[in-house]
Amino acid sequence: MSISCDVIQDLIPLVKDGVASAASTRIVNEHIAICERCRTEFEIFQTNLEQPSIKDEKIIFAIKRSILITQFVILIAGAIIGVALSNSMCMFYNFIIMPAIGGISMIALKRKWYLAPFGIFIITFLWLTIKNIVLSGFARGALYDGLYYSTIYTVLVGLGLIIAMLLKFIFAKDGE
Ligand SMILES: [Zn+2]
Repeated sequence: MSISCDVIQDLIPLVKDGVASAASTRIVNEHIAICERCRTEFEIFQTNLEQPSIKDEKIIFAIKRSILITQFVILIAGAIIGVALSNSMCMFYNFIIMPAIGGISMIALKRKWYLAPFGIFIITFLWLTIKNIVLSGFARGALYDGLYYSTIYTVLVGLGLIIAMLLKFIFAKDGE
């Protein structure tokens, strides 16, 4: 039985992907042994196969990067909103916002997770101290608000980090 080159070339991707049946694989191998045109096609397909995987890597890299950017935007926006809420009626949202920042920073910053509590401390302290000085001049209590809130927020971010670390530990155990 002679099989046309068109049929063989349809089968080549399946054979290359390892999803063709044993019979199809045998037919293709027998054909490319005697048909130079299809053999070339078969060899070219092998090199083509590497290109999509590079493309896939690029896509995965782009997705990872956009996720990372999103996480950073959430972190920065959360920090700004959280700190701006200080001394307001909505301040208690920070009991959710700050631990969430800790949790996200665990994912986004990985080994540099300590930057989150450190950053929150600095931002809160600077924001409230500058605000106090601008609103009421450099008084005795000017630094008090800043230190008070930055300590609370740092503890809350730390709580989020601890929860995220525990979850990571539990899931890592499940993965084994
Ligand atoms: Zn052929």
